[in-house]
Amino acid sequence: MKLCIKCNLLKSIDLFQKKSNSYDGLQCWCRSCMREYKINWSKNNPEKIKMYSKKAYKNNAAKIKIGKAKWYRKHIKEQKARVLKWQKNHPGKVNAANVAYQAAKLKRTPVWADKKSIQEFYILASKNNMHVDHIIPLRGKLVSGLHILENLQLLPSTDNHQKSNHYTLK
Ligand SMILES: [Zn+2]
Repeated sequence: MKLCIKCNLLKSIDLFQKKSNSYDGLQCWCRSCMREYKINWSKNNPEKIKMYSKKAYKNNAAKIKIGKAKWYRKHIKEQKARVLKWQKNHPGKVNAANVAYQAAKLKRTPVWADKKSIQEFYILASKNNMHVDHIIPLRGKLVSGLHILENLQLLPSTDNHQKSNHYTLK
């Protein structure tokens, strides 16, 4: 038995936490007094708790990053499957993103392009099983069209692939 100097109660040894540098190897407060003290301290020092957790996070940031990378590597198949599933469920968005990327690469998307309407146009097209086509091709031989709503048209799926990149000046 050991006397807790906080609550002044004689308690069984196993109700005291271990403390290696104390004379009997135990805390002088019992577990429940320690717990109560910690809870009260946390309540009265919310800023310090925040600061400590921030500091702890900073110290652990590298470890956490490595852990995340390891986790990702371990679950890479599931992650890829999840992305593929999302892409399968959002074909319009995927098409819009792909074409926007290509168009941006070709610098054919002016800053004033209505990107939201363009995306909606692609979603509408995929819902109707149609292909989006540039009326004036983005990479025409004589003139290059812009990736803007005004230059988009809907084509039945097959036509798009047959259409060449030629544009006849009228
Ligand atoms: Zn106690």
